[in-house]
Order: sequence, then structure tokens, then C-alpha cells
Amino acid sequence: MSATKSISVLKRSFSISVLAALMAAGPNALASEQPKLILQITVDALRGDLPGRFDNVLGEGGFRYLMNDGIHYTNAHYQHANTETIVGHASLATGTVPAAHGMVGNVWFDRELGRLAYNIEDSAYHLLTVGADVDQKTEIDPTQRAAKVDGRSPNNMLTSTFSDEMAVHFAGRSKIFAVSVKDRGAVSLAGHAGKAFWFSKAGGEFVTSSYYYDQYPEWVNKWNARDPASSYSGKSWELLHQPSKYMFGDADDREYETDLAGFGRVFPHAYGEADDKYFTTKLTLSPAGDELTLDFAKTLLDEEQLGQDDVPDFLAISFSSTDYVGHMFGASSLEIEDNMARLDRTLADLFAYVDQKVGLANTLIVLSADHGQPDAPGYLNSLGIDRAHYFDTDTLDRTPAIEALKKQFGFGEELIEAYFQPYVYLNRELISEKGLDQASVENAVAEELRKFKGVAEAVSSTALRTASLPDTVLMRSILRNFHPKRSGDIYLVFEPDVFINDFDGLIVASTHGSPWRYDTYVPVIFAGAGLPAMKVSRAVTPYDIAATLANYLGTKPPSGAIGTPLAEVLEK
Ligand SMILES: [Zn+2]
Repeated sequence: MSATKSISVLKRSFSISVLAALMAAGPNALASEQPKLILQITVDALRGDLPGRFDNVLGEGGFRYLMNDGIHYTNAHYQHANTETIVGHASLATGTVPAAHGMVGNVWFDRELGRLAYNIEDSAYHLLTVGADVDQKTEIDPTQRAAKVDGRSPNNMLTSTFSDEMAVHFAGRSKIFAVSVKDRGAVSLAGHAGKAFWFSKAGGEFVTSSYYYDQYPEWVNKWNARDPASSYSGKSWELLHQPSKYMFGDADDREYETDLAGFGRVFPHAYGEADDKYFTTKLTLSPAGDELTLDFAKTLLDEEQLGQDDVPDFLAISFSSTDYVGHMFGASSLEIEDNMARLDRTLADLFAYVDQKVGLANTLIVLSADHGQPDAPGYLNSLGIDRAHYFDTDTLDRTPAIEALKKQFGFGEELIEAYFQPYVYLNRELISEKGLDQASVENAVAEELRKFKGVAEAVSSTALRTASLPDTVLMRSILRNFHPKRSGDIYLVFEPDVFINDFDGLIVASTHGSPWRYDTYVPVIFAGAGLPAMKVSRAVTPYDIAATLANYLGTKPPSGAIGTPLAEVLEK
């Protein structure tokens, strides 16, 4: 039974005064006609098995509340090929695939601009804090690879989000906010009608752009002036429990783990002093990033009075730490295990706060992830899985096969101009200068790339547009990632457990982004709002979330939504 149906029954059986008395008794007394708050949580890179795998270090009220009291879909997979952060977040927000919402990768080569573009860059909307968009201290950010454009907006996202549909449906009376450490984690979920805040490593504060505000709300200035990040100065990320409590308690030091600027491979990981150049970056590489996000989100909930009237509000929170910790230490590490324990506490804190302020009975919670994450090849090797290894993309243009092609086409210079996951970009200028046919060159290069050791598939964009492709799961996932204006010339897929060991210029333990199951697998859990406890093993997709939320609230679906409303959430 939907929330709407249940209240109509209640209305028939209670007098108005009884209803009023119940409402006055507190936020938990009775679910209102519709939820007062939609709380959409994204945990960046939370592979579907991780919460259950590390159950040994979880407490009460966080993941256990979700998994034991909510509707837990245990078989949810993305169906697009490029499992990167903006692609997943935009898919969660819009309920559709990158072919429709247009966010085909964290970066893509913009042929019109003639340079690499960052997914949510927009020079028309500057950041309210000058210089806050650029992490000038480290290279651990895809903006580093794109041109440094001071500005962010959701305008590159081509279809509407569920939050947009709320704004339209409720005549602009829904309050819509999104918060994350990552700009793309917030801008995507806020949609085109909501407001987004994200963490700037440059200043150690939460920022926004002129797309959303002319100036910061006073409460944001106050939060930033309080400078909660500085409270970590001189401190360390330490284990929450005794080492013996952890699955990886005796496996802290692994040689493939990343040691960024003295952060170290073993506990305790020291943040350094607040004036240290890498201080704020280290906060994001640990559970501290999530704790700061929670602190900001709680202040936002209060100050913007979310969930306090009869029009449903929307708050999206994307917790980024799990992704960074996974990149640095791998999905099977003491660090990811302790990160889960601390994220669990952060979630429990959030749910207790929301319960007190809005009431969990009045809050529809949905938690998912933007993608999963792979295990580090070093970890797999240690278990005898020898085929796991790194692939050096710098060699692509220098291999004998490509050299032979260059000769055949008469190229003296580079034929492969660039590789930015997942696309190979060809030197189009040279191709046209030589009067060659772009499609023939694309197909010839793709055919050679397909022969590389470690490459599973290479398919040209021309082939995607024109040829009849083999109807395989892999080919369909590449097609779902294809946008004619943004996709590169050749989509390159590596074999399972073959990785690019380059995370935006930094050598790391693991990198996600593949179409394989470890990267497509995410949890989908609905809780609160009187939903029953249930485990569902049926195959579903994260695209179903936006369709479900729209159906639940009675709005129309987002403009490109392909998801199916989830019956367990909607019917009792
Ligand atoms: Zn991500």
C-alpha cells in the first residue's frame, strides 16, 4: 500500500482532532500523507557486497538499520559501460543511461572547444569563492586533466532529474538540496532546479556556484567560518576497533597501497597540520571527508528547515570517502574495512538526526552507489589470481601494429591523439589533411586494438552509429554509453581484472570504470516511511530509483527515465 493509500484509510478512521493530537505528539507519531523528506544517499564506490562483507565491524542504526529494516535489493547492476562517478550519479538522478543524460565520462574531449572538458564545467557560472574549483595542491582530481574553467552547473546534464520533477510537480515549493565532497556528486543530484554544495580542497570549506546563488546564505558563511576541517589538524585516522575485530586486521601493510605525501600505508594515517599543503586532501582520503559532509548536511537540514511542512523536500547526500579510500588502498584492505565502520557510524548519526528533526516515518530514504569497485591486482595476485595486472596505455600508439597502420595511412605523427577513459581519440585533423575517410581509419585502428593482450573489445563510434553490432551484453552496455556529440572515436574495454594504473596522474591501488560486474554492482536500499523489511534478489537497476521515487510521489518520470518502478516500495 502506498503512503497515500494508508493515510486515506487513517483519515477515515480518525477524527481530525485525533489526527492533530497524534501529529502534535512528535515527528514519529504518524506518517503524513506524503513523506516530508526524500533522503537520497549515494555512497561513492560502494560495491554491493561491501556492507554485508564487513558486518563484523558495523554498529547499530546505520547499515544494519537499512539492511534489516528496509527493502534491500541485493542484485542491482548498472547497465552502461563506463562506470565512473558522474556517469553513475547522473544515472541515479535521472533514472536513465548516459546515452540519454549525456554524461558519458568524468571528462571527454569537446571537439567544439578543441580541448578536454570536465563533466559539469560551465564558464557561464563562476564559483562564489574565487579559485575554489581548482585543487592546486594535488593531482587527485579529474579537473586537473581538463582545462581549468572556473564555473560549475548542471547544464551538461541533458535530461531532467527526479528532483527537477519534484520542483515542477509542487510548483517550486519543494526545497531541493544536494551535498557532497565531490562537485559532481552534488551538482548531478541537485538537478537543474535544486541547489548544490560541495567541498573545496583549496579552502577546506563548502562552496557553490553562481548558477545557484548570487551570494552564500548566511548559514553557509557561518559554517565555513567555524572551519570544522581544522579540528582534524595534527590528528590521525585511527582504527575504530581493536585490530583483531577486522577481517584485514593483520594485513595493514601492502606494498601496492598508495602512500600519498606521508599519509602512509598503515594506521594511524596522519593528517598533518592544517597549514600543510596536503591536509585537506588527506581529509578526503579518509572517513573525515564523510564526517564533514554529514556536519554540513545536518546544518543545512536545520537552517533550510527541510521536512517541516506538507510539501515534500529533497536532500541528496553523496559520501565520497569510500571511493578515495578504495582507490588508495583497494577494496580488500584494512583501510576500506575501517572506512565502512566509520561510514556506518556517520549513517547512524544521520538517521538519528533525521529521526529527531523530521521523523524516519516521514522520511523516504534510498541508498545506492554510483558504481562498485574492483580489487587491486596485487591483492588478487596474492590469492594466486595471476592474470590480474595493469595495462600501460602510453604504449598504445607505439605498438608495432599501430606503427604499421600509420605507415599504411602515411602518418608520420601520432595517430592516436589521446586516451581518456574510456575513449580513444584519433588525430582527426591529420586524418582529414591526408584526405582519409574517418570511418575507415577508426575501424582499422579498432581492429588492431582488439588484438592487444588485455583488451576485451574496441569498437568505433562509426560502427556504433551505423553497423549492425553483435547483440552481446558488452556491446549493449557500450551503446548505452554512446552520445554522438560527446563520445570519443573508439570505446576501449579491457579484460576483467586488467586495469589502468593511473588515477588522474597518481599511481593508485585500483581504478574502477569497467563494464564488469565488480564495477556495476551496487546496493539499492529503500527504508523509512513505514516500508517493510525485505530482501529482494530479483535483478534490478539503479535507473529504477528515479522511476520509483517519481511513482511514489505521483510526479511524472524524469524526461529520459528508463527505469521500472520497484513494486516492493510502492505496493504493500
Ligand atoms: Zn565514484
